Amino acid sequence: MKLYVCEGCGDKFTKGELDLESFSMGDIYCTTCSDELMQAGMDAVDPNGEFSSFDDWDENGH
Ligand SMILES: [Zn+2]
Repeated sequence: MKLYVCEGCGDKFTKGELDLESFSMGDIYCTTCSDELMQAGMDAVDPNGEFSSFDDWDENGH
């Protein structure tokens, strides 16, 4: 099975262990790193907690 190197932690994962949303955009992150990035992204774009979730930001922020 093909292994992918996570851009976040550098470990190797099968496709099933990757964050498929990132993968579909050409970024390779495992679900753990993806969660961390998402949290960091939330803090960056939404320091005041204006949006309740990343999905919300996606819908309202673009
Ligand atoms: Zn990772």
